[in-house]
Amino acid sequence: MFFRSILKQLVGHRGRQLVRHYRVQRFPITKHYRKRLRGMTALEIGGPSNLLGYLGQFPIYSSLKSVDNCNYAEQTLWHSDAVKFCRNLVCEGTKLPVSDETYDCVIASHCLEHIANPIKALMEWRRVIRQRGLLLLILPNPEYTFDWRRPITTVEHLREDFRNDTPEADLSHLEEILALHDLSRDLAAGTSEQFKERCLRNAEFRAIHHHVFAPETAAQLMGEVGFSVVRQDVHDVNIFTLGSKS
Ligand SMILES: [Zn+2]
Repeated sequence: MFFRSILKQLVGHRGRQLVRHYRVQRFPITKHYRKRLRGMTALEIGGPSNLLGYLGQFPIYSSLKSVDNCNYAEQTLWHSDAVKFCRNLVCEGTKLPVSDETYDCVIASHCLEHIANPIKALMEWRRVIRQRGLLLLILPNPEYTFDWRRPITTVEHLREDFRNDTPEADLSHLEEILALHDLSRDLAAGTSEQFKERCLRNAEFRAIHHHVFAPETAAQLMGEVGFSVVRQDVHDVNIFTLGSKS
């Protein structure tokens, strides 16, 4: 009993140290988002996201009342059991088997760039958010990623993808990606041959960044699909945009 209590104290101390270590790494903006999202029911598209977990730099999961998750397949490249969702939906992010206005908020972290038809996805996400509910969009800041050599996608191009009902199997950006993707910043992608092979099988892996976003594009897209931007922050590799359904 005595030894158990000593052990507990030791583990507790180490645990507290770890938490403290990670806590200081938190993005200072987190508190503003936690405050906005507190007590909300959420649907995450393409989770789980380490960034949003307890040990992540932007830990917002714990401020929510509940979180469901949606992925295109049971197994994904980003699969993790670290987060337990209330419900796991297996479907395309552009076609959710969910009634209108079901959730207080939708969260998509490093996800929209993997979707071939972003406006279609955003409109679908808007549909399942209640009036004055929130959309939290976290996009990769291209300056800090392997996309840094690629041009920012124009909103006009995204409108065209919407008008053409571009499917998720789309590979029309492949040539640009193979030419400009900086493999030295993407070690997980392997050699250029392995990377090309993975891109060609994108319907299976969904690893391609179809489009490249700037903060202005994210804000413009929010307006385009009926959200007013509540706040936007750019932090290292992340562009955070929070919109309210108007
Ligand atoms: Zn496109």
